[in-house]
Amino acid sequence: MSRLILKPGRERSVLRRHPWLFEGAVERLEGRARSGDTVEVIGADGAALGKAAWSPDSRIRARMWSFNPSESIDDAFFKRRVAAALARRAALPELAGQQGLRLVHAESDGLPGVICDRYRDTLVLAYTSSGAEKWRGAITAALHKATGCTRIYERSDADLRILEGLAPRCGWLQGTARDEALTIAENGITMEVDVVAGHKTGYYLDQRDNRLLARGLAAGRRVLNCFCYSGGFSLQALAGGATRVVSLDSSGPALAAARRNLALNPHLPAGLAEWREADVFDELRALRAGGEQFDLIVLDPPKFAPSPAHAEKAARAYKDINLNAFKLLTPGGMLMTYSCSGGIGIELFQKIVAGAALDAGVDARMLRRLGASADHPVLLDFPEGEYLKGLVCAMG
Ligand code: SAH
Repeated sequence: MSRLILKPGRERSVLRRHPWLFEGAVERLEGRARSGDTVEVIGADGAALGKAAWSPDSRIRARMWSFNPSESIDDAFFKRRVAAALARRAALPELAGQQGLRLVHAESDGLPGVICDRYRDTLVLAYTSSGAEKWRGAITAALHKATGCTRIYERSDADLRILEGLAPRCGWLQGTARDEALTIAENGITMEVDVVAGHKTGYYLDQRDNRLLARGLAAGRRVLNCFCYSGGFSLQALAGGATRVVSLDSSGPALAAARRNLALNPHLPAGLAEWREADVFDELRALRAGGEQFDLIVLDPPKFAPSPAHAEKAARAYKDINLNAFKLLTPGGMLMTYSCSGGIGIELFQKIVAGAALDAGVDARMLRRLGASADHPVLLDFPEGEYLKGLVCAMG
């Protein structure tokens, strides 16, 4: 097996169990390794630190599979990691009975580059790193066996693959699509999941808890849901007793899915929902110009800053929408505001929102800091895994 020798001092992050080795940490590779091959990771002092997958085309030159130098990376290894990921979810009563569940959350489940979401009997897999790509057969088989799911769809089309020098790959690995649309029940609401053409693996499972929180805050309130996608927050707000729900998205297909989802839930007061195809940046201004007011606003934009290099431009975009949202809120109103940008940490996000409140001339306080649902665990020393952060702010 090839040996990846680290520069002096660069063993520190590995000893803290951080799974990434950047190009700058690598002194040299001894032996030949192709993309995705397993390499032994060796400190400058010669100490064996573990095993990693070699990614010659990526700035993240290697991703740790194991911090145990004597552990073999083979089919049995992937079976163990898959079993551990499933056991982690099974141990949480709050996840019991969820029909939509993230079963494998990449690095934080010890499987860098591997995402597995379950929607009832359908698994959706995304392999985003060269190591995951190399072992995709073993990982798919382990997931198939451990879950018994007979429909498995691969959605390996994330931009991340480009950085790894991998071409996109999508298609059914087991079984085929059902004749009828795939739906899941999420906390009492039925939602359609389009695993082929939807965003990510078809749905934003990470916001499950936050949609439920919105339901709890919605009673008697006029709600504005910005970046609504397939309407998850909107439908939960209707279920929670909102008096009006205006939802904005720039995507026609997303809004069509949202309308279908509303129709799938005939117990909801559909007459209170309004869907608008619009750019949120413009529409917030138009709503202000029209003298509109809301009592609860949700801002869940796409990631404006995929990496820290984009942070400054992204900060301006976050500030703009948060400032205009604050201006649309009534006294006593609430803002649920999110960032899923890996390049912006919670401290910076809070600063941006604070700046937006200041410039909007409102008195606001934070009630809660939010993150993704518990099926998206985060390794304690892997801040990159904590991409979703949110705040609930109350107007003074
Ligand atoms: N809150 C949603 C997920 C939002 S994903 C949920 O709970 O499922 C982000 C959404 O923002 C996408 O649907 C995308 O179409 C939309 N979007 C991206 N840029 C936009 C813009 N400038 N204006 C309006 N919508 C936008």
